[in-house]
Amino acid sequence: MKVMANTLDRGFFMYQEEFEKKALEVLRSGWYVLGKEVSSFEEEFAEYVGCKHCVGLASGLDALWIAFRLLGIGAGDEVLVQGNTYIASVMGITMNGATPVFVEPDEYYNLDASRLEEKITERTRAVLAVHLYGQASNMEEIMEVAKRHNLRVVEDCAQSHGAKFDGRMTGTFGDIGCFSFYPSKNLGAFGDAGAIVTNDEKIAEDARIFRNYGSEKRYYNKVIGANSRLDEMQAGLLRVRLRHMEELETQKRGICERYLRELDGEKFLLPRIREGATHIWHQFVIRSDRRDELMKYLRDQDIGTLIHYPIPPHLSEAYRYLGFRKGDLPVTEKYADTVLSLPLFYGMTEEEQSYVIECMNRF
Ligand SMILES: *Cc1c(COP(=O)(O)O)cnc(C)c1O
Repeated sequence: MKVMANTLDRGFFMYQEEFEKKALEVLRSGWYVLGKEVSSFEEEFAEYVGCKHCVGLASGLDALWIAFRLLGIGAGDEVLVQGNTYIASVMGITMNGATPVFVEPDEYYNLDASRLEEKITERTRAVLAVHLYGQASNMEEIMEVAKRHNLRVVEDCAQSHGAKFDGRMTGTFGDIGCFSFYPSKNLGAFGDAGAIVTNDEKIAEDARIFRNYGSEKRYYNKVIGANSRLDEMQAGLLRVRLRHMEELETQKRGICERYLRELDGEKFLLPRIREGATHIWHQFVIRSDRRDELMKYLRDQDIGTLIHYPIPPHLSEAYRYLGFRKGDLPVTEKYADTVLSLPLFYGMTEEEQSYVIECMNRF
């Protein structure tokens, strides 16, 4: 049997008829960028998250970039972010000229709130909390520290659509929640797409203007903006998938609960769930000191796995100018050397799950 790390067409075939109907509707509508599908999606997604406003954008990276920009964070400002995140989180900060300050992650792979304060300087302006792998960060403590030091809070929810902390959706705690709808995310489009959510009307308005060349009215440009528009096709297809989120979440949770029950917890460090947090399982990440050997062994059994992420941002070539060296963030680096994401996707069959579990436990 062959099991790939991800098989995206399964998620399409689950609702093939609905997706195809919507795609034809959009093609035949004669309106392709920023139209009624986009505004309907914005309304429906805002309601799903429990926020007043949602503004559709071109990608998750754009959402982060625009979020910090609208908060006025730029050159000379420092933003606290966890060291083990996807590099796009960090680029959202540095695209504005601001400086990322890396905080070590906790045992749930999210920002370790107890280590935030030691990194705060007089230049610190914001915290970027990334709800990595689909589990909500410790938002209670993060918000407390932010309040105490008058910091803005941005949430990177690219992996956490629908995840909650204390019964409240991720993306609604801070000033702005940033979402990606890249095809492999839990709420995925069929191309690039992203959004911000916020309860601040001014931020939502500014984002709407910024995404369309800084214009509110056609050919009247208020600010120097960008082209970060969401198109009708992606918005329409996202609306179809959004209607099925509950079913999709239940399906992924079922797979991961089985992994948790049946994988050998003595051999591998299985994911843990924080009290008060929910996990929507964007990734099922285990740890092993023999990770590379395990990955190769699984590949020989025709099982695909991925590493999220092999090179932490502070050690990547792109951020060499920040001057970090190996050993500067030991927890982050240990995770990079030991994490492994098992196959997980919508429409994964029970036989595929059994095969992965069997092979893993035989390692
Ligand atoms: C995917 C992702 C992004 C970037 O989203 P894009 O839509 O690919 O630009 C940002 N942060 C995290 C944590 C992600 O997983």
